[in-house]
Amino acid sequence: MMIVMKEQATPDEVRAVARRVESVGARAHVVVGELQTVIGAIGDQEHVADLELEGAPGVDHMVPISRPYKLASSQFRHGERTVIDVGGRKIGGPHFATIAGPCTVESRDVLLDTAHAVKDAGAQLLRGGAYKPRTSPYSFQGLGEEGLRLLAEAKEATGLPIVTEVMDARDLDAVLEVADVIQLGARNMQNYTLLTELGRAGRPVLIKRGLSATLEELLMAAEYVLKEGNTDVMLCERGIRTFETAYRFTLDLMAIPVLKELTHLPVLVDPSHAAGRRDLVGSMSLAAAAAGADGLIVEVHPDPDRAICDGPQQLHADDFGDYLRQVERVAEIAGKRVAAAV
Ligand code: PEP
Ligand code: MN
Repeated sequence: MMIVMKEQATPDEVRAVARRVESVGARAHVVVGELQTVIGAIGDQEHVADLELEGAPGVDHMVPISRPYKLASSQFRHGERTVIDVGGRKIGGPHFATIAGPCTVESRDVLLDTAHAVKDAGAQLLRGGAYKPRTSPYSFQGLGEEGLRLLAEAKEATGLPIVTEVMDARDLDAVLEVADVIQLGARNMQNYTLLTELGRAGRPVLIKRGLSATLEELLMAAEYVLKEGNTDVMLCERGIRTFETAYRFTLDLMAIPVLKELTHLPVLVDPSHAAGRRDLVGSMSLAAAAAGADGLIVEVHPDPDRAICDGPQQLHADDFGDYLRQVERVAEIAGKRVAAAV
């Protein structure tokens, strides 16, 4: 149930309603919007209904949230969109943000060269995995803590906020030392204990859609994080498994407008892992921007032919500036605001 407070409701009235919601064992999630404050009452709906809050001081009206995900639902934010501020870079709402960098942190030189190249071209955040989910246990698994140290150095050198993946809650404290956004990989999308930890981590979270996950399952994953009080959640379409084998995954472009209808959370697209082929990354990025994506997360490498992993899909760092200019033109046509390079 969503309790919409009156525009002139006082903080005391908001607190009193939240306390009454909690008195019946439900959780009260207070979201202060631009005009109105709403309180999400998550728990036994019959108990909440018994409170008869409709006439309580400061309450305007109540709206039942019909979907299984509540805090992630667009009904919950009443048409407002979540905008996440990551070190001054805005993700969501009117903004278009690009996260770029190598698949994995493989060496100091590769990471720093890429970081400077993507920054100069206008990317807002730097990506790079220190812990890598690999299909084969014999493949390179990432540099781990050494990779995190290099990411910290790249952040220091460029000022770019860092997006990096955590695969195991045991590494979370180390990852939190450097990550400005914690990435939850596609293969962990339904790791509910990890999602709950991320909900308590106090850092923005980027959740990648599972290889075979429905949009509802993706939104339920987001709900796990939101439920713990972390409101900074962004979603990422990264291709799903279909019968087609000509490319790595099938980029589900329709997920973009549909997710944006279902949820207030920012929706990003990863064209690199979807395609698995560099030649498709440009067109799929333009298509994602045209479909209303809030941004992209894209792999870039100074010498992809020598990359330790995902070489065939990584853009050449030298080509990244031209690529980004085209994407940003389309994003602007789609009504987005593009940040100037800093
Ligand atoms: C990645 O972005 O580094 C990655 C491994 O992606 P995904 O989890 O979508 O496969
Ligand atoms: Mn990769």
